Amino acid sequence: MCDNRDSLKVVKFGGSSLADAEHFLQVKAIVEAEEGRRYVVPSAPGKRFPEDEKVTDMLYECYRLADEEKDITPVFDRIRERYQQIVDGLGIEVDLDTEFTNIKWAISHQAGRDYAASRGEYLSGVILSKLLGYHFLDAARIIKFSDNGKFDSEITNELVGAALGRHVHAVIPGFYGSMPNGTVKTFSRGGSDVTGSIVARAAGADLYENWTDVSGFMMADPRIVKNPETIDVITYRELRELSYMGAGVLHEDAIFPVRFAGIPINIRNTNRPEDAGTMIVAEANDSADARKITGIAGKKGFSHINIEKDMMNAEVGFGRRVLEVLEREGICFEHLPSGIDTMCVVVSTKDIEAIKDRVIDEIKKEVNPDSITLEDGLALVAVVGRGMIKSAGSAAKVFGALANAGINVRMIDQGSSELNIIIGVDEADYINALNAIYSEFMS
Ligand code: ADP
Ligand code: ASP
Ligand code: MG
Repeated sequence: MCDNRDSLKVVKFGGSSLADAEHFLQVKAIVEAEEGRRYVVPSAPGKRFPEDEKVTDMLYECYRLADEEKDITPVFDRIRERYQQIVDGLGIEVDLDTEFTNIKWAISHQAGRDYAASRGEYLSGVILSKLLGYHFLDAARIIKFSDNGKFDSEITNELVGAALGRHVHAVIPGFYGSMPNGTVKTFSRGGSDVTGSIVARAAGADLYENWTDVSGFMMADPRIVKNPETIDVITYRELRELSYMGAGVLHEDAIFPVRFAGIPINIRNTNRPEDAGTMIVAEANDSADARKITGIAGKKGFSHINIEKDMMNAEVGFGRRVLEVLEREGICFEHLPSGIDTMCVVVSTKDIEAIKDRVIDEIKKEVNPDSITLEDGLALVAVVGRGMIKSAGSAAKVFGALANAGINVRMIDQGSSELNIIIGVDEADYINALNAIYSEFMS
């Protein structure tokens, strides 16, 4: 990271960082604290307190009502009220009436689900650009998806780069872009993180700061493990493993644009700007880090197909034929641990649930196994650490911890990079498994 306080930074603020007028003012103070914070990517206002509603959720609800040809007014007015309170609290002049009239008309006239959802970020952007005195750049004009719905990274990089070149300071709303025909399209939930990364790459930033409500990436989900330690430095690859496995701080696709450009990400806390947060980098200097694992994450909701057949190892094309069945059914596999005469395919339960009998029948037809079973209720836990490759005994520690806690391991997979160990346990054991592994490595 460049130490120059005025190096170019793209700053993204999450929903909790923009939940009300006080937070908008805090955001302004953070942006203005450094000259280099020239491009700002806001999310839609999130929850102010645990039972509160996120603006994005309310917008999805408006879309659902409109789609069922019901009146959206009650929900829509709650959204208008949220923004009105913010604008009033900031004491700035923004013509929300015109914005809300246009948005309500569009949502009620089939502008689409993604359009509805995107208005949360759009309105945050309009307000924040006014508050900061920064130019407003509508993401729909510069962030592009192709006809098949995939994000078009190269065209976007050119368009965003050209637009930023015309403005020293700008606010670019997160979460959405547009299709070639101009229809608004969003990334998946949490996608403002992706926008921030895209803007950082196009700007050639020195740093992508991602401001949220925790002081960095913690070694485990703080909602599951009590007071987990914050990670000081993590590599892109470790982060990808952890965020893919459910560590929700950063969207799982957010690293791609910045990794391409070699730009580090710094996770920071809007409520505690004095904390250094977590640095996400290409390569870490490990001499300072004696810790053997970097973090733990996990997800519930997996199923495993277990296939057994004597001499499977000698049957050329066995694995391919099994996977071709999944391919034909449009199912991705998550893991593929296998033995000499056994093969296990881990898939997401929601992907296979409705078609499981058909999939099993097709596999039987294709490979004629001695036995095949499908079991649900599997949770996956990923233990991730660049240090594991150098330190003998990490796996022993993981399995020792689980055995001591009386947890039965249903599946094991270790990536060839030795960066991670994936363990499958019963969903009922999920929380205990995370806690047992965490305490083993931290004691
Ligand atoms: P934002 O609204 O700023 O995008 P998110 O809610 O998407 O914030 O992400 C931050 C939240 O991620 C934290 O409040 C925390 O509850 C959750 N979280 C899950 N796993 C972790 C982890 N390993 N470290 C830190 N926070 C985590
Ligand atoms: N507002 C969107 C969501 O709630 C995107 C984001 O917050 O990053 O998913
Ligand atoms: Mg988020």
